[in-house]
Amino acid sequence: MQIYNTMSKKKEEFVPIEPGKVRMYVCGPTVYNLIHIGNARPMIFFDTVRRYMTYKGLEVNYVSNFTDVDDKIIKKANEEGVSSEEISKRYIEECKKDMASMNILPATTHPLATQEIDGMLDMIDTLIKKDYAYPAVDGTVYYRTRKFMDYGKLSHKNLDDLRSGERQLKVSGQDQKDDPLDFVLWKPKKEGEPFWKSPWCDGRPGWHIECSVMSKKYLGEQIDIHGGGEDLVFPHHENEIAQSEACSGKAFANYWMHNAFLNINNHKMSKSAGNFFTVRDITEKYDGQVLRFFMLTAHYRTPLNFSDELMESSKTGYERIVTCVSNLTYLLEGDRAAQITDEEKEQIKEALVYRRNFENAMDDDFNTADAISAIFDLVRYTNSKVSEDSSREFLETLKNEIVSLADILGLIVERKEELGDEEIEKLIEERQAARKNKDFARADEIRNQLLDMGIILEDTREGVKWKKA
Ligand code: AMP
Ligand code: ZN
Repeated sequence: MQIYNTMSKKKEEFVPIEPGKVRMYVCGPTVYNLIHIGNARPMIFFDTVRRYMTYKGLEVNYVSNFTDVDDKIIKKANEEGVSSEEISKRYIEECKKDMASMNILPATTHPLATQEIDGMLDMIDTLIKKDYAYPAVDGTVYYRTRKFMDYGKLSHKNLDDLRSGERQLKVSGQDQKDDPLDFVLWKPKKEGEPFWKSPWCDGRPGWHIECSVMSKKYLGEQIDIHGGGEDLVFPHHENEIAQSEACSGKAFANYWMHNAFLNINNHKMSKSAGNFFTVRDITEKYDGQVLRFFMLTAHYRTPLNFSDELMESSKTGYERIVTCVSNLTYLLEGDRAAQITDEEKEQIKEALVYRRNFENAMDDDFNTADAISAIFDLVRYTNSKVSEDSSREFLETLKNEIVSLADILGLIVERKEELGDEEIEKLIEERQAARKNKDFARADEIRNQLLDMGIILEDTREGVKWKKA
């Protein structure tokens, strides 16, 4: 399996630290609003990486955080006159619903920054003891960027170039830093902000330290893969490397993977410019599966442009697979010859080539675009070979082949039998009872079972509501 590493700017053979196991950390969203479709790109892509690695027999420990303390969360809380905690809790719940609608599996762990403050205090303390960090007079703790000799190795930036850029910036607190390049690890509280006690001042952590600490706690000092959108390469990931490696004295992550941006009508999508869509906006119009399909039609390192036209063609493409599978289901419902013919056996051998093409594409730095083409080729082949005369085994084998390849990409292409409203309500009641008994595993199982049938649950103040995707 070849992975493009942002650090070396090359594709490299993937060799995990511990044979058979993968430790992967992906920076998650800041939760102050419904997630937008740009945020969905890394979520869908890294979920697909995880699914493919699992398919290859690797055990993936996948950690993705929620940043639940941040200026934007505080601003939103003040606007609404509620606590930051209420805002972050609300949008974590909403984010989880969006993830489910796009068939994104929950990570092994979704840590919250606010629950990991002790680890952050420890890491900052270690960095101060090693002289990689220092507190300023007002209690702000800064990282001593120049002391970390490898600074810039991920983003391929040169410290002196950075320095000349920094000089033109008027950054607050600049005068109390030893060097303009130093960045914040801990900052003093302001009026009306959440804060924690620390040896330096009452305050809160900087953003970069959060990920270094959560990655270390849940995956260890050295990990296989660290991922996120390409905007995070600098400074976020560069700073994470500086913190983690200065602290442990070891290489932090072996493979750095970054997805390119999702644009809208060829313009950068940005919340401030108002040209963005939330996942919710889109899934009201399209099945979450179509959105997932759309994201996977491009290689993750190429920018992807979002438009109605492309969504419509994704819908057509996705439905082509679904239709092929339902035709097979329909044929299987009738009386079919039990005995597979020699000709059919040969054809099945031929059909297996598409799985090889699929794997070759995925092994080549997760080329999901070519993997989808391999599924289309298989669909075309299937349509050309099956008929009323096909044997049961032949039909079943081809159907399983299509369904299982799509499933590796997290695409559900088999329409399950529709449930009646009453049966849905019954399952929802059972889920509520399970939650009451703190049997969250069963509750999640029911949610997923319903999701598989295209039914999305929403926990509202008035109780549980459901809708068809
Ligand atoms: P944020 O909430 O801004 O920290 O973003 C969460 C994740 O979404 C990060 O990995 C970002 O790099 C990624 N991201 C944000 N906007 C986009 C976009 N337009 N296209 C692709 N990825 C994005
Ligand atoms: Zn991060």
